This record gives sequence, structure tokens and C-alpha cells, in this order.
Amino acid sequence: MTVDLPAPTRRDDLADLDLRELERRLTERVDGEVRFDAGSRGTYATDASNFRQVPLGVVIPRTVEAGAAAVEVCAQLGAPIVSRGGGTSLAGEACNVAVVLDWSKYCKNVVSVDPDARTAVVEPGIVLDELNKAVAPHGLQFGPRPSTHSRCTLGGMIGNNSCGSTAQAYGKTVDNLVRAEVLTYDGVRMWVGPTSDEEYQQILAEGGRRAEIYRGLHEIAEEYGDDVRSSYPDIPRRVSGYNLDSLLPEGGFDLAKALSGSEGTLVTLLRAEVALVPVVEHRAMLVLGFPSIEEAADAVPMVNGHEPLVVEGIDERLIHFEREKRLNQGSLDLLPEGLGWLMVEVGADDEDELRRKVESLAADAEQAGAHVQEYEDAEDREDLWSIRESGLGATAWVADMADAWPGWEDSAVPPERLGEYLRRFGDLLDEYGYGKASRYGHFGHGCLHIRIPFDLTTAEGVQDYVSFLDRAAHLVAEFGGSLSGEHGDGQQRGALLPVMLGDRCVEAMEKVKALVDPGNRMNPGKVVHAYAPDENLRLGPDYAPSEPRDKHFRFPQDDGSWDRAVLRCVGVGQCRSHEGGVMCPSYRATGEEQHSTRGRSRLLFEMMSGHPDSPITDGWRSTEVRDALDLCLACKGCKTDCPVDVDMATYKAEFLSHHYEGRVRPAAHYTMGWLPLWARLASFAPRLVNALSHAGPLTRLGQRLGGVEPDRPVPYFADHRFTDSYRRRGPRGSGERGEVMLWPDTFTNNLHPHVAKAAVEVLEDAGYRVTIPDSTLCCGLTWISTGQLDVAERVLRRTLRHLAPHLRRGGLVVGLEPSCTAVFRADAPELFPHDHDIARLRDQTRTLAELLVDTDGWEPPKVDRDAVVQPHCHQHAVLGEDPDTELMKRAGIEPTTVSGCCGLAGNFGYESGHLDVSVACAEHELLPALREAGDDALVLADGFSCRTQVEQTDGGRQPEHLAEVLAAALRAQRGQPTDPRSRPGRPQQVRHLDRHRPQEGSPWPV
Ligand SMILES: Cc1cc2nc3c(=O)[nH]c(=O)nc-3n(C[C@H](O)[C@H](O)[C@H](O)COP(=O)(O)OP(=O)(O)OC[C@H]3O[C@@H](n4cnc5c(N)ncnc54)[C@H](O)[C@@H]3O)c2cc1C
Ligand code: SF4
Ligand code: SF4
Repeated sequence: MTVDLPAPTRRDDLADLDLRELERRLTERVDGEVRFDAGSRGTYATDASNFRQVPLGVVIPRTVEAGAAAVEVCAQLGAPIVSRGGGTSLAGEACNVAVVLDWSKYCKNVVSVDPDARTAVVEPGIVLDELNKAVAPHGLQFGPRPSTHSRCTLGGMIGNNSCGSTAQAYGKTVDNLVRAEVLTYDGVRMWVGPTSDEEYQQILAEGGRRAEIYRGLHEIAEEYGDDVRSSYPDIPRRVSGYNLDSLLPEGGFDLAKALSGSEGTLVTLLRAEVALVPVVEHRAMLVLGFPSIEEAADAVPMVNGHEPLVVEGIDERLIHFEREKRLNQGSLDLLPEGLGWLMVEVGADDEDELRRKVESLAADAEQAGAHVQEYEDAEDREDLWSIRESGLGATAWVADMADAWPGWEDSAVPPERLGEYLRRFGDLLDEYGYGKASRYGHFGHGCLHIRIPFDLTTAEGVQDYVSFLDRAAHLVAEFGGSLSGEHGDGQQRGALLPVMLGDRCVEAMEKVKALVDPGNRMNPGKVVHAYAPDENLRLGPDYAPSEPRDKHFRFPQDDGSWDRAVLRCVGVGQCRSHEGGVMCPSYRATGEEQHSTRGRSRLLFEMMSGHPDSPITDGWRSTEVRDALDLCLACKGCKTDCPVDVDMATYKAEFLSHHYEGRVRPAAHYTMGWLPLWARLASFAPRLVNALSHAGPLTRLGQRLGGVEPDRPVPYFADHRFTDSYRRRGPRGSGERGEVMLWPDTFTNNLHPHVAKAAVEVLEDAGYRVTIPDSTLCCGLTWISTGQLDVAERVLRRTLRHLAPHLRRGGLVVGLEPSCTAVFRADAPELFPHDHDIARLRDQTRTLAELLVDTDGWEPPKVDRDAVVQPHCHQHAVLGEDPDTELMKRAGIEPTTVSGCCGLAGNFGYESGHLDVSVACAEHELLPALREAGDDALVLADGFSCRTQVEQTDGGRQPEHLAEVLAAALRAQRGQPTDPRSRPGRPQQVRHLDRHRPQEGSPWPV
């Protein structure tokens, strides 16, 4: 049998495709979510690469069978498809003008684990960390571990033949793949793996399409075997090109391995059986410092001789960038002297063997001129790895370098020639003016990572980029290396494959494609017959965003440009991880790309980019963007946790201000957005207001009309505002440490005045004389979060007029409510970056803990209790948690700190339609932590929202502000009453939510 090469069509004949019919049939046949709307298409238009292709539609199958049905429907109508896991690909292989099959939301089960055989069968959408969690009880793990382990899926890893640092010890994904269940576009569904001669003959005897595929692959292997043997580089990180070597007799005619790394261009993966490896318990970490990154690379063969588990290289520019960006601040000084480093991990079966290995490696490294440091402290080791894992975040959006992009980000050469390659590659970078880029990577395997400052927005810059890629490909080929050492070819490197593999091997790949996917409908234009690297660019010379002139925030981090701000997301998908930090609660609750920071960024980019094929056509009025932002809690988690500081809460506020300009807003914007005004009015008759707002069905009706979630109990206004009480009481104490102004934010002042009273007691004990503003003021938070920025600006200006005299005298402002304090620290300076009084306000605002830990000679009273601590997400993002932790430590409080958002987040959890997501967010970390806590553990939450969420969902615990706990301990010290119920000014009535778990069948799975 001969396989005809397909016509090298890359532009598809999609004009005849009936999209409505396609959507109709998919909806009818597929158990899952079928979305052909503009918002979904915009959300999936790109991955982490330089490319952008708007898909035809998106299918999110609920089961593997449903995914297979989706492929069948697409095949019936001739629609191209592209599978997608975490979408963290860097070469454009996870975006296409095709139907996107997103496996990551539902098809993520571990089907079975066989601890004896050390294998597991998994569905394609399972995230690597989740698989490892599932097999950890057996002391096992999946070997390869890309840096994206918290969100990359096994389907994507097999698609890309991913590696990561641990591939040094365990090989690439292909080396850990036992069998795979795959589906061809034309409907052949089969388990594939190594094929013995007997099995092969049996398959041929059965006949049909499967036999045709097997026979065709066999013939291709025979015809091109010698070309593959001579042209495929024999290096640890050959990831470029199809794995034709696995089709050779010496490769076991292994179809699973041959299809691995084919980037969705040949088959759809339905399930995989993967090999597992034992977790090495005895491990040690050393860092070797060298005078340059090249000299570090020269030492790789010596280090590899010690059979390390991991060998990672980092250069001094990476450290410089991390210092500039204040990333990993505590860890950078842990590195030994040098300007280029190798981070090495060795492992052994027991401690004695480990010591021998460490000593022998250290001795050889010292002889090679390295400064050697071993790290025995587990925390130090973790910190050091985070320096390396922050590579991409640190090298994107660097202040003293042009914007840097992927493109040549993972080339690999024989490890023994890495130093030489780095020198020649450095010259090439210099020749093109790209020399400032940082170099790091999986040096033990000769794999180099780099983000290069390509100019991708001018014709000349794009020409340089193309020319550079060609030169770099020739350089790598000269070294016997691979264009890609782990990320795959996609569209970025597909067209360059002849340089590395030669025309014959590329022809063999084309024949494989023609055999398995004759219609070129599987991820077309990637790897084989690939688009050129300057096609489908996300930016490109046509990128023409129109910068709005009337914006409110000044985006100082982005040179004042809104367009740069919405371009900031580099797509690495950290916002899709389920653990650590706060980002992104709405994704964690929904599992939806559209409700991740990245999804929202993509839509904002689509709105602004000026690309003629953008599905978002109505600019600020876009309902798709509004809907994607609707579930953004404005928690600011991304502002800190995103490696490139995407600040979606700010973008949301800016968007809303334009979206609703001159129009009637949702009712919630008038009720909750204007809360400070209503609170002021309520203060004239709080009991009457409380009675009216807790009047059963009438109240629920009122809540509905006001856009407020009817199942949420409305908080009670206090009988007396803090400011009124304080004016009557006046300052007390010695005041020997001077005067501070306590900021009476709306929430504390009107709803929880007991918190401010407690803070006064503590501040006075610490020797401060407390003052309060002379008038009712506000920071503007509620207007900011609802995007009523004109009002917020007016409110802030008025506040500033009142505070200016105090600030100009150098006086401090002490904030108790983290979200309001964060306005002074972050939002206000971003609204008024050139205002000196705002700058004073930013610099002179302190949290209570910040002030107290810096108060020399004052120690907090002893509390000596355990506590579950829910930091407010704005505290996490803007203010930092260290001073609170320190203060608690001094007070003898043993904290269990909840990472993640409480889910209420100001007005978010109170807005109609947000209840399920809000509670799902609380279920993620907060509520399990509360259930696990001992009965007498304190619950500490400085945020009014967080306390409200605990009160309404936990059903029993009484959350407190740290000020309350300290004040109570002071009173106890003095022998005064400490019963919480006796605390002055605390409203006691708290109604609990009837349902505090997502309901069966809820659209928001946890
Ligand atoms: C910051 C950063 C660091 C990275 N570090 C590493 C690293 O250390 N090592 C490494 O190897 N990679 C790394 N990568 C690249 C990428 O994260 C990995 O290759 C990852 O394994 C891809 O997984 P994913 O789920 O995101 O796949 P996706 O990007 O969604 O898909 C990858 C490919 O697999 C195909 N695919 C997905 N599911 C299926 C399926 N069911 N059937 C058929 N084809 C399918 C897709 O079509 C696509 O071609 C990094 C990327 C970034 C942004
Ligand atoms: S928002 Fe941040 S974390 Fe999420 S993909 Fe973009 S850059 Fe990565
Ligand atoms: S502000 Fe919070 S909810 Fe919104 S995108 Fe950022 S992390 Fe997600």
C-alpha cells in the first residue's frame, strides 16, 4: 500500500461549513456544554503562545463518551477540531479555527490505579498534580513534571510530550506512557501501545480502517527507517517532530508512543495508561555558583555523571529581574556566590548513600571552580525552586527590557555541548539586539529556556523575528539538537522542521498525517504543513488597539496604557490552579476558562485588539465581556498571585465605568454601590431600618428589587456609629507615642463599631492618642468595585480635602478594614498617580498590625489560643500578611491561615445570582478549615465580608477582628469582663444561610 501525500492545504475550505447546523447537532448529540457564542470563542482564541485563532465553537464534554460523540458530529460535517487541556502551550498548538474540545472541566477522572504494576489509567483532562495526589498514598507519582504541574493535564502532556525538571530522572512523557485509547477523526477507536509481530498480523487479518492505519504506518517506518535513524538527534530532549522512532522495530512499533507528542494533529486521546514511579524519599539539594551561565553549562556533564534527579540552570539576569519585580525576595540571597547557577537535586535509597552522593558531587563541583551550597531546610529548598519556577513571570514585562515573548523558548542540544551552544546562541542574540534576555532551563538535559524581546508589532520587527528563528534553527541543527526540548512545535516551529530533520523525515511525517487524518481536520496547520511563524500572530503589524482617552485608572505599571494592561496576561494559566494563594476563586468554583483571570484577560484583549475577526465587536458595550467579569469577585488575588500581576479587579472597575456610561445600571450598583450613603441615612434611625430590613417576605422582595441575593441576610446597623460614640468618649491614655488617626470605614463605623472600639483600646494601651476625621468620610470602595468611578473620584477628593492637613503634618492613618485600607494603598494612587496628598495617604496609611509590630517597647497581651485565620483577599494582594502573623506570634496565637478567598468579597456575594459561586468559594478552603478546627479555636478575620461569610455559612462560630481579640486579652489582664456578648456595640442578631452548599445539579460545581 502506498500513502498519498495530502495536498499541502493549510487554509481550510470552511466557507461551506454550516456552523448553525454544527452547533445544533452537537447540542443534540453531546452530553456537555456546547458554546458557539462570541464570548466563548473569544475566550479560547489563544493559549500561552504568540498566536491567536478564533475557534468555530467550544464543546466541553461531560464524559469521554460525549467527547467521542463530539468528534463524530464534527466529522459528519467536516469541521476541524482541536483538543485542549490547560491551554498552557507555548507554540500555538492549543488554538485553531476549529471546534475546541475542552477536556479539563469534566473528563478528569483517575479510572484505575494498579500499585503493583505501578500504572494508572486516566482521562485526558486530569491535572498532573491531581493525579499525583491520587497516587501519593501508594508512594507513587507520575515522573515528568512540567512547571505548569498545577494546571497542565495529562492529555496536554501526552499531546506535547512534556518534560519539566524531573524528566532528568524519569524521561519525557512518552517514556512514561504505557498505552493509549485514541480516536481517529474518521471514527476508529482503539487502544494502542507496543505491537508484537503476532498482534500486528492479527490486526491486519481483521481488516478495515484500523488495519489500513497499522499497515500504512508499518510501511512508512520501513521506507523512512534509515532516514529517521540518521536524522533524529540522539539526545535526551528531542521533542520536535512526530515520534517516528517509536514506529521502528527497535522502538517496538509502539503506536501510543508514536502518537504522543503529535499535538492533537493525528488522533484524539480518550484515555491513557501511564507508568508511575516511586517517590524518592531521601533527597538533597545543592546549588553550584559559577562565574557565568556558560561556565555553569560547561559543568553539566560533570554533574550528570553523578546521576542527579534534577539539574536546572539560572543566570544572573533572572535574579536581576526577580529583584526588580520583588519576586522571591527572601530567597534570592540564599544563592551562593556566582553569576550563573546549577540547582541540583540528588536522591538515594537511604541517608548514607545520599551523603556519599552529596559529598562526591560537592567535591567535584568545587574542583570545577564552583561555590557550593547545600540546603537542608525544606523551606529553603522550596524557596529556591520558586526562583526557578518563576522564570516565565520574571522574564515577561521587565522594566528595563522590551516586551519579551516565547518563540525560541525551549531548544535543546546534547548536554555536553550546552556551554558551547550558549556562547554561540548568545552571539546570535546580540546580533539581533535581543541580548538582554535571561537564560535558564533544564540544563541537565541541554534544554534552554528564554523569552526574547522580539518586536512583534512592526513589519520590520516581525521580519527580524522570522529571520532570527531561521538562524537559530540552523544553529541548533548544527549542534545536533532539537528545535523544541519540551513544548512542542505547533505553529511556532512546525515550518522549521526540515532544517532539523531533513526533507525525508518531514515527508514521512506528512505521510503519517495523510494516513491517519486524510482530511487534515485534526488541529490543521500545526506541526505538519504548519502555518509560518508570522501567520496568525496575536499582535503582528496589524495590531491596532485604540487606547481610550477617558479612562479613570492610570495604569502606572503599564506606562499609563489600558491596552498594555489588557495585553499583560501571558497565558501561563496559573489562575487555573486549584491550590495556593487566592487567585482565582471564581475559576476554582466553576472550572470555567471564561471565569478565570486568563479568560477575562483574553476577552478584554479581544475587545481592544482591533483584529477584524474578533468576535467581540461592540467595544465597551460588550455583554460578553460584562458577563465574563460578572463572576470576578474583584478579590485582587491576581494582582499578587499572577506571575505578571494582572489586576483584574481594576480592569473590571474600568470596564464597568465605560460599559454603563450614560445608562441605567443594575439595581445592585445603586443599593450596594451607594452603601456608604444609605448607611449614613440609616444612622439616623438604625432600629427602624433594621426592623424594615428584616421583615420576612417583604424584605426578600425588597432585596430582589435591589439586586440583592434574597437568601443573604442583610446585616444589622449598629445602634450607635463608632464615630458618634467616640466623639462622646474622647481620647484617653497617655498618648506618649503621639497621635494616629483611626480610619472609620463605612463597614466598621456603621455595622461593626465594636471592632473600632477594640482598636482604640489597643492603640491607647500601646501609647497612641487616637483621633478620627472631623466629618463622615469614605474611601470610595463600593463605587470602585461597581465601576462608578466618577463618583469614587469625587468621594476620594472630598476625603482627601479633610485628611490633607493631618497627612501634611506627617500623621499616620490606621485602617481596620483591609479593603478600605487597600484603596488608600493601591486604588487611590492608581486613580490619581500624580497627586502628592494621595501619595502621602498611600505612604502614611498603616494596618493596625503594621503599626503595632513597629511600636518599639510595646508587646501585645498574651492570648495563647489556636486560631483559624482568614486573611482578607485585599490584604493578601495589597497590604501583605506578615505583620499580622508577627503580631499573632507575639500574642501567642497559633494561626492556621486559610489561603483562598472567603467568597463574599464585598458586594459580590450579596449580588443576585452570585450565592452559589460565593458559597462554593468558601467551601474551597475556609469552611473545611473551620470544620477541622478545635472547638475553642478562635476565628480571626479582619475583613467585614469574611466575618459575614463565616457567620452566615459556618453556623455557630463567632469570627473576630484581631483588634477584638487583643482588646479582650487586655481587659482580661486588667480583670475586666471578656465575654464576647458583653462587647459594646456588637449587633447580636445573625441569621444563617439556609443553604450553604451548592445544590445538587448546580451549574457551579466546587
Ligand atoms: C510558564 C510555563 C512553563 C512551562 N513549563 C513546562 C515544562 O517545564 N515542561 C514542559 O514540558 N512544558 C512546559 N510548558 C508547556 C506546557 O505547559 C506543557 O506542555 C503542558 O504539559 C501542556 O499541558 P496542557 O494541559 O496545558 O495542554 P494544552 O496546551 O491544552 O494542549 C497541549 C497539546 O495537546 C493536545 N491535546 C490536549 N488534550 C488532548 C487530547 N485529549 N487528545 C489529543 N490531543 C490533546 C492539544 O491539542 C495541544 O496540541 C510550560 C508552559 C508555560 C506557559
Ligand atoms: S492571568 Fe496571570 S496567571 Fe492567569 S494566565 Fe494570565 S498571566 Fe497567567
Ligand atoms: S480579581 Fe479575583 S476573581 Fe477576579 S480575576 Fe482576579 S483572582 Fe479572579
